[in-house]
Amino acid sequence: TDKQAVDIHAGLENTLIIMEYKLRKSKIEVIREFDQGLPRVMAVVGEMNQVWTNIIDNAIDAMETNGTGKLTIKTGKDARNVYVQISDNGPGIPEDIQTRIYDPFFTTKEVGKGTGLGLDVVMRIVTQHRGAIKLKTSDQGTTFFICLPVQDNLN
Ligand code: ADP
Ligand code: MG
Repeated sequence: TDKQAVDIHAGLENTLIIMEYKLRKSKIEVIREFDQGLPRVMAVVGEMNQVWTNIIDNAIDAMETNGTGKLTIKTGKDARNVYVQISDNGPGIPEDIQTRIYDPFFTTKEVGKGTGLGLDVVMRIVTQHRGAIKLKTSDQGTTFFICLPVQDNLN
């Protein structure tokens, strides 16, 4: 396959550069809590960047544009996996739609603002990498936890 040893922090930084205009327009503060000993992950680099882009894009959309928005990106590891937590302090995801957010074309955004494909793509890419996604959301904000195996033995 086209999997290679991917530097997760480099991918996150590249994504933040691409999203810089939107982050600045919404006056969002970015907080990095990066684990400096994070191992590389066997992954398709462009697909990983798509995952970070889609989750961060949603986080920005969820936050106020008045300077109170905080995007926190935290990384960590255990013996086999790398973890990436992306948190916003937006209004959260209502309970009745939490099971539908990964469905293709499910969106709560105005026509023209959302395709409803972002999280469908995220789920498919993470699953292809034999990883997992967990959601934690309340009226204080939303966190997406992405777990990726460092070694994908099955390729
Ligand atoms: P889109 O962004 O085009 O609407 P997505 O698949 O990326 O499609 O997201 C689906 C829906 O999940 C969004 O419309 C929104 O209702 C919800 N959602 C996703 N991330 C967040 C978040 N961080 N905060 C609040 N709602 C979210
Ligand atoms: Mg989206």
